[in-house]
Amino acid sequence: RKGPEPGGGAVNVQVILRCRPCNKDEVASRVPQVIACNEAAREVTLYQSVGSKQLGRSFHFDKVFAPESGQEKLYTQAIAPIVEEVLEGFNCTIFAYGQTGTGKTYTMEGGARNSEDGFDLSEAAGVIPRAIHQIFTTLDAHGAEYTVKCSFLELYQEESSDLLAVGDAANAKLRMLEDRGGVVVQGLEEIIVRGARDIYALLDRGSAKRRTAETLLNKQSSRSHSVFCVTVHMREMTPDGEEVIKIGKLYLVDLAGSENVSRSGAVDQRAKEAGLINKSLLTLGRVITALVEGSGHVPYRDSKLTRLLRDSLGGRTKTCVIATIAPTVQCQEETLSTLDYAHRAK
Ligand code: ADP
Ligand code: MG
Repeated sequence: RKGPEPGGGAVNVQVILRCRPCNKDEVASRVPQVIACNEAAREVTLYQSVGSKQLGRSFHFDKVFAPESGQEKLYTQAIAPIVEEVLEGFNCTIFAYGQTGTGKTYTMEGGARNSEDGFDLSEAAGVIPRAIHQIFTTLDAHGAEYTVKCSFLELYQEESSDLLAVGDAANAKLRMLEDRGGVVVQGLEEIIVRGARDIYALLDRGSAKRRTAETLLNKQSSRSHSVFCVTVHMREMTPDGEEVIKIGKLYLVDLAGSENVSRSGAVDQRAKEAGLINKSLLTLGRVITALVEGSGHVPYRDSKLTRLLRDSLGGRTKTCVIATIAPTVQCQEETLSTLDYAHRAK
């Protein structure tokens, strides 16, 4: 069973900060901006006026991406090395964490696409299509024998459902069963992907289903987590004819809006009464803190999300948290709490 390696935890958790650009409306109404990003210094400063004074608070991260930095740059600099690990047979997890509307889904899945079908890595393509593209390109170049499987699930109020299932299984709640250190999600659809071009069909299927469930079940999408999982089975031959099997797994997690947890990480009483506590989001924070601090006890079992990701968090795995923020004054309180949370994860 994998556990955190003493003292080795910190190097394996990377926290990067991305600030989205102002949208058309914000530009048109000249909304004041309160964020300054310094990519070279890997530093973000939040400016707030307190009385008549302007106060700037700066935060350091492993990497910082300013509003003008696009998807390709973020991918090449922060994500591609993680996908290389997956292709070496390790498990890795990438999270998007931040207030609703700051670009979590844009970062993970991408922006609007032009082509209806077909595969197009336009500038707006996010981490998921780019990772799939890297996986196929690398494995084809090595002439390896491989299989790539994807699953896509949603966690809402500690219940999981399959975003790819169709027919009778479509609305079933999934059960998680413990299995030798990992967790198996019973009945979760695993789709074999034959090439990078299949990926958009899966993403679209998942988001269509998410939208329907939202309407039918009165869900709030900002409170659900979506977990996209790519498993790569590889079979290679060494020069002396020995067979090597490697299995790598990559979890790509679009988390619930961070406005759903209070700043201190403590449970706000009113939110608690309203049943608004996002257990998975809170527990994730605690798990990451425990991993970074090399603590002996990592509370994986306290939430569905961390149970699910257990074999891909800690130990010989790489974890990347992409914290997303908006540059505008209206968001400053939530931005501060995202900066605090993400900074603590370092
Ligand atoms: P979230 O998933 O965090 O709620 P979204 O990904 O839906 O936020 O982003 C909100 C809006 O901002 C979307 O219209 C998205 O296309 C746009 N957006 C977010 N981040 C960026 C970015 N880095 N560059 C350009 N547009 C972005
Ligand atoms: Mg979203």
